[in-house]
Amino acid sequence: MSDGPITDGPVPDQTMGEGTRAVRAGLPEARKYEPTLPGPVFAAHYHLPGEPTGPYTYGRDDNPTWTLLERAIGELEAPGATGTETVTFASGMAAVSAVLLSQVGSGDVVVLPDDGYQALPLVREQLEAYGVEVRTAPTGGDAQLEVLDGAKLLWIETPSNPGLDVCDVRRLVDVAHAVGALVAVDNTLATPLGQRPLELGADFAVASGTKGLTGHGDLLLGYVVCRDAALAARVRHWRKVVGAIPGPMEAWLAHRSLATLQLRSDRQCANALALARALAGRADISGLRYPGLPEDASHKIAAGQMRRFGSVVSFTLPDRAYAERFLAELRLVDDATSFGSVRSSAERRGRWGGDAVPEGFIRFSAGAEDTHDLVADVLRALDAVAAA
Ligand SMILES: *Cc1c(COP(=O)(O)O)cnc(C)c1O
Repeated sequence: MSDGPITDGPVPDQTMGEGTRAVRAGLPEARKYEPTLPGPVFAAHYHLPGEPTGPYTYGRDDNPTWTLLERAIGELEAPGATGTETVTFASGMAAVSAVLLSQVGSGDVVVLPDDGYQALPLVREQLEAYGVEVRTAPTGGDAQLEVLDGAKLLWIETPSNPGLDVCDVRRLVDVAHAVGALVAVDNTLATPLGQRPLELGADFAVASGTKGLTGHGDLLLGYVVCRDAALAARVRHWRKVVGAIPGPMEAWLAHRSLATLQLRSDRQCANALALARALAGRADISGLRYPGLPEDASHKIAAGQMRRFGSVVSFTLPDRAYAERFLAELRLVDDATSFGSVRSSAERRGRWGGDAVPEGFIRFSAGAEDTHDLVADVLRALDAVAAA
């Protein structure tokens, strides 16, 4: 992170609770008559007489609004750690591409999950076009372990989207580091309040801030938190070269949203668990997955590395028409893609064609509604379809 005219606030107390940390993350030192969270800085260039030294020279290189947001995300992803650096991006995919394309080159081997975010196969094509060898394996059962030999970088997505399988990050990191591979973890679904990949040993925590991190479904953002400055320098250089920079307004809205991350996460995760409990055992539901359900296949590993289990629940209805009628019956839940918003949403994932899921597969994102209202709406919709 650049040293700049923005001075750090007091060093966060490590005994501080995560809600307190979320509320105060990245705030500058208190100065009389200054706002507590300074507004977005709209600048393509900055006054720069004489030698062009930083921190703020040109708007594609750095921006004071990013500085505060990057500091905040770093405090949440790696509280108390020294030497970590955060780089924010225009979207989650900008962050994902920045890590992969800045760290590997022709002849290198990359290991990707084969059940991860639906744009990963597009990244795979691009990597292969650049002469990178890409191997894939499923997330569940730590299957990626089997294909690590000779790899330069291991990409983990846990819980995976949309299947909600979980892998043991510490175990994969140990083996990857032993064979000389870097490890990146996509932390989008968990958010830093659910899981801290750097503490589990990963070299990069990468995420889309579009989802639960900012949680209002009104902006796109991405970030990379790097274990050390040398890794961060390449990621930052990539951002400068491709120009995939966040707008100052988005960066500021994201920072503002972080203050409620714990409040939102607590309600959304509680709603997801209540919903999963209400769906378990229903005759019209199969393949129910939520890592927070004690009986879920992922629960044991998830409980060993996650603090919260996320807002996403997945399940399968008998067929496509059944799933479509269910979505149409819902009153409090938007039929929309994406997840992590304070407003519940759900979609029939198979409509996109990218994921290997059954036609009736539903990805459900629990919002911050009152639990009894949300669960009642879902059960009413299911009953209405079953009765039709
Ligand atoms: C949405 C998502 C991304 C991509 O993020 P965008 O902000 O849409 O570019 C990457 N990984 C996962 C797991 C996601 O859910």
